[in-house]
Amino acid sequence: MSNVRVRFAPSPTGSVHIGNIRAAVFNWLFARHEGGKFLLRIEDTDLVRSTREAIDKVLDAMAWLGLDYDEEVVYQTHNAADHLAAVEKLLSSGAAYRAVKESVDPATGERKSGEVVLFRMPKEGVIEYTDLVKGRMRKKAEDTQDFVIVRSDGSPVFHIANVVDDIKQGVTHIIRGDDHVENTFKHIRIFQALGAPVPQYAHLPMIVNAQGKPYSKRDGAAFVGEFKEQGYLPEALFNFLVLLGWAPGDDREVMGRDELVEAFSLDRCKSSPARFDLKKLLWMNGEYIAHQPAATFKAELSARLAAAGLPAEPLGCTLDELVPHVQIRTKTLSDLPGNCEYFFKEEIGYDPAAVEKRLHRPGAKERLLAFADAFAALPAFTIESTEALVRAEAEKTGEDGKPVGMGALVHPIRVAVSGRTEGPGLFEMLALLGRDRVVRRLRAAAEL
Ligand code: GLU
Repeated sequence: MSNVRVRFAPSPTGSVHIGNIRAAVFNWLFARHEGGKFLLRIEDTDLVRSTREAIDKVLDAMAWLGLDYDEEVVYQTHNAADHLAAVEKLLSSGAAYRAVKESVDPATGERKSGEVVLFRMPKEGVIEYTDLVKGRMRKKAEDTQDFVIVRSDGSPVFHIANVVDDIKQGVTHIIRGDDHVENTFKHIRIFQALGAPVPQYAHLPMIVNAQGKPYSKRDGAAFVGEFKEQGYLPEALFNFLVLLGWAPGDDREVMGRDELVEAFSLDRCKSSPARFDLKKLLWMNGEYIAHQPAATFKAELSARLAAAGLPAEPLGCTLDELVPHVQIRTKTLSDLPGNCEYFFKEEIGYDPAAVEKRLHRPGAKERLLAFADAFAALPAFTIESTEALVRAEAEKTGEDGKPVGMGALVHPIRVAVSGRTEGPGLFEMLALLGRDRVVRRLRAAAEL
C-alpha cells in the first residue's frame, strides 16, 4: 500500500471528451501501478451544465472503460461550506481581500458592481515547481495577477473549490491536461496560503490532430460515447488513450490492462503534443477484435445479425465455421454484419465501385460464365480444387501475349460472389459459400 491518492475531477458538461477521459486513464493507471487510491470528484458547481444526465455520462464512460474508483464519489457542490470556510481563513490571514468589482451580467448584458473576494498573488520573486512531465516550471510574480475566488453572488470560483477539495481528499498527485498549467501557479499559492502541502503535478500533453491543432469534434469522433457507438472495444480505446502521451520505452503498442498497470510510470510521459491517429486506433481495435475469445465475437455477431434481420446461421456453412474468417477481418464492431452479410442472404448487394472496376471490363462476362461452368463441372468443390482451376487459367497466355495472372481472375470472381472487394481468402470464401451458390452468383453477376 502506498500513500498515493489521485483523483479524476471532471466538470460534467454533457459529453465526455477523450482528452478528459485520458486524464482519468492516466490517474487510474498511476494509482493502480502504485497501489494507491483513485478517487472521483464531480466538479458540479456549474449548475446549468451539471445535470444528472451529464453526470451519468461521466459515470457510464468510466464504467465502460473499466475505470473503477475507490471511496465514495465526491460532489463538489456538497463541499460549498468548506470552500467558504477556506475563504474566511484566507481573508483573516490577509492572503485574500474584498473589493468592489464591476461585471457584466451575461444574461442581460447589464453592468453591475458587487463585492468579490480576490486572492493575493506575490508582487515579487518567482513561483516555481517541478512538473513530473514538463520539468522545472517557473513564473515571475510580476506576470501574475490577483484573481477572484468568490463572485459577487457569493459563489466560490473553480480555483478555490478545486484546491480546497484536493486538500480535503488528501490528493498527493494532480495529473491533468496541460491546459491547466496556468492555473497551477495560482493553485500552488492557495495551497501554501492554506498551510497545506503542495501536491506533485503532472501535466499531460495536449491531444492534437494531424495539423497539430487541438483535436476536436471536427476531426472525427471526440467523445467517449461516439467510440462506443462506432464499434470500438473499450480495451482498445483504453490502450490507445494510454499511448497519447505515454510510451513503454520499447516497441510494444498493443498492451493488455495488466501489462499497462505494470509498465506505467509518470516519468515516461511525454511533454510534446500527442497526435490522435485514427488509423492507428482502427488498426488497434482490429487487433483487439481478432484476439477476442471466439465465443465473445460470435455472440456480438449474432446480436448484430438479429438486429439487421438476418438469419442466425449462414447459408452455406455453419456460424462456427465462418466466425474465424470474419473475426480476423473486422476492424470495428459496426462493420458487422455488413462485411459478411453475403454469407447470410441470397440476394446480395453489389458495391457499385467494385462492379465498375472489376466487372465492367471487356471479356469479364465471358470469363465469369466460363468459371461458372468449370466450377459446376469440378468433381469436388474444395479450397484446393477451385484454387487449382483458377491457377491453371491464370497461367494461360492472354491476348497481350503475357500470362493472364491471378489478380485478373481472383478480383472479378470475388466481386461477383460477394459484391465486395474485401473478405476472406477467395478460395476459403468459395468453399464457405458452397458450389451452387457460387455458380448462381457468377451467372447473375455476368448479367450486371
Ligand atoms: N474540473 C476541472 C476540469 O475538468 C478539473 C481539473 C483538475 O484539476 O483536474 O478541467
